[in-house]
Amino acid sequence: MTTFKNIQSLGALAGKRVLLRADLNVPMKVDDDGNRIVTDDTRIQSVTPTILALAEQGARVLVLSHFGRPKGERNLDMTLEPLGQHLADATKLPVSYIDDCIGEEVLDVIDAMEDGAVLLLENVRFYAEETRNDPDFAAALADNADFYVNDAFSCCHRAHASTVGIAEILPSAAGLALEKELVALEGALGNPVRPVAAVVGGAKVSTKLDVLTNLVAKVDHLIIGGGMANTFLAAQGIDVGASLCEHDLAETAINILKNAADNNCKIHLPSDVVVAKEFKANTANQIISINNVAKDDMILDVGPASVTAVEADLKDCKTLIWNGPMGAFEIEPFDAATVSLAKAAGALTEAGSLISVAGGGDTVAALKHAGVADKFTHISTAGGAFLEWMEGKKLPGVEILLAE
Ligand code: ADP
Ligand code: MG
Repeated sequence: MTTFKNIQSLGALAGKRVLLRADLNVPMKVDDDGNRIVTDDTRIQSVTPTILALAEQGARVLVLSHFGRPKGERNLDMTLEPLGQHLADATKLPVSYIDDCIGEEVLDVIDAMEDGAVLLLENVRFYAEETRNDPDFAAALADNADFYVNDAFSCCHRAHASTVGIAEILPSAAGLALEKELVALEGALGNPVRPVAAVVGGAKVSTKLDVLTNLVAKVDHLIIGGGMANTFLAAQGIDVGASLCEHDLAETAINILKNAADNNCKIHLPSDVVVAKEFKANTANQIISINNVAKDDMILDVGPASVTAVEADLKDCKTLIWNGPMGAFEIEPFDAATVSLAKAAGALTEAGSLISVAGGGDTVAALKHAGVADKFTHISTAGGAFLEWMEGKKLPGVEILLAE
């Protein structure tokens, strides 16, 4: 079982300076008065318990994050300053802000801080050295603090100065949200309770090749839905009509199916589908066998018989990993398969027979749409990092926090 250094492993924190890497790269919009307003504060809420835990122990909490892609230049459209008020609201603590993240002035402000206070540093990507993981820049960041805590899983797939370089210098630990995420992911794919099922859907095989390749070697059931199922069906000689399909990946798809067979991974592809002539809400549609797709038909969802079959197998599974919707869930009624399967997984999880972990931008939206997001064991909001984890890649920001 892999374990990670956590906050307790750092020892007493009273009076210590703790640099906390958060992900405050939250969705924002500019209002009529020209103010930047947070439109989704999920990431602020997720780092709040760690800020509180550190502050309660009397640490001076230095919050560090990136925002947007300022490409190594000071760009005030991407300043973190407005996030200070949001952090204060979420933590009910006074939060001050400084317009830099390294240097003498920052050090002076930190020296003058009260224990248990919070200081928001400026966007770390105003320095090009950040994404290059420049050692001098990492050392300058480390000068600010006695300890480093990372609570930004969504940034862990990047070896940057604020995720890896600084952790090589300071005693480091995973924050509460990162620890929770890692425990959930480890439980789902690292050391899972079997049988394990994976649902992989979404538009294209090409964006999830490495995910599919990794999963067939690790899971007992692979449920392929969404547009990518068409590529697998076409590769097996089935006519998918006008559906989204990557015909050039036929050989790749066949190889994935072969690997699955070699690894005793049962592949679930749809036997019935929902088709329409156009990609439009409430357009005329039909449920048909996969063998009856007409030339001008577009497959927009998995059919009900296929969903029932998957749900029957899911009852015997102990663990589920889910990335990618089963159909074009944004338009009705092509959300039916995704919603049905999501509800089934949510109910099994609630009943205590299934551990369910899901991630991906559209997947999270689809599970919220199905009303089951809070029933899943864990939902990851980290896009790229979650996918790289599903691909079986080692995430540099996580590796550096492994306990010896
Ligand atoms: P995630 O963001 O969760 O990783 P993806 O971006 O891979 O998921 O896939 C989501 C997209 O796949 C959605 O926009 C959805 O409309 C699309 N999709 C799913 N099924 C189909 C289909 N049969 N035909 C076309 N697009 C589909
Ligand atoms: Mg997506």
